[in-house]
Parts: sequence; C-alpha cells; structure tokens
Amino acid sequence: MAVTLKDFMTAEDVLTIEPGLTLAAAAESMSGRNVGAAVVVEGGRVVGIFTERDLLRAVGRGTTPADAAVRDHMTPDPVTLPSDHAPSEAAAIMSERRFRHIPVIDGGELVGIVSIRDLISADLHIHTADAHVGSDFP
Ligand code: AMP
Repeated sequence: MAVTLKDFMTAEDVLTIEPGLTLAAAAESMSGRNVGAAVVVEGGRVVGIFTERDLLRAVGRGTTPADAAVRDHMTPDPVTLPSDHAPSEAAAIMSERRFRHIPVIDGGELVGIVSIRDLISADLHIHTADAHVGSDFP
C-alpha cells in the first residue's frame, strides 16, 4: 500500500490558535508545546499559519509581542494538502516554497500537520524499506 502523509503527520493535538491572539500568547503556546508552528483557525476554518519564523520577523521589525495580533503576522491561506497525498510531493512543495510546515485537511477539516522533520523520517523509512527489499536477507 502506498505511503501517504497520514503515516507521518502529527494527528493528535495539533496546536491551533485564533487570529486575535497576541504574538506573546502564541509564543507561549508554541514553546509550551515545543512546536515551531500553529495553525490559525477561525470559525472552524483554517485561515492561516503562524510559525517561529513569523515571530522572529515581527520581533526583528521592532514589534512588541504583547501588543500585536497573530492575524497581522501570520501567513493567510496557507498551502494545505489532503492526508492521502504522497510525502515526496509534500517535501517538494516545502523545498520549492521554502517553508517547513503543511496543515493536512480532509473534507474541510484539519486532521493533522506535517513538518519537514516528519518527512525526513518518512524518507528514512522508505529508504530503509527499499534497502531491506533489495538485500539478500529474508
Ligand atoms: P516555516 O519554515 O514553516 O517556519 O515558515 C516560513 C514562512 O512560511 C513563515 O512566514 C510561515 O508563515 C510561512 N508558511 C509556513 N507554512 C506554510 C504553508 N503551508 N503555506 C504557506 N506559508 C507557510
């Protein structure tokens, strides 16, 4: 059976935040969960993605995190993929577009998030499986 994003994405407890949250509160949630990205959701719909890169950029511009809202610093309408997509295509998109996270959406519902780290692990699994198939060992 083909390997899909479902096999490697984080499906449990994806960190979601609202667009009106301050950058300080978003940073606290992200660091508390030890993740580099939060999916921005409004009215049950994914409206953006906010990552550590956006936070860094905002702070670098002199923004005060306690006084700024996620909606003004997130990337709206992020690239998303369905869970039956091939990990290799997700990796190609991340490489071309220069970001490290893709929310996974099935039928309009957020079902997971895949990061470049997950895809490195996917690639290792695929190559390990290939190596086993190709070896002389049973
Ligand atoms: P990252 O490398 O994921 O930390 O993100 C780098 C930049 O790309 C940040 O400005 C993010 O908001 C943006 N970004 C991250 N993921 C996506 C995505 N799936 N679609 C569009 N932009 C994204």
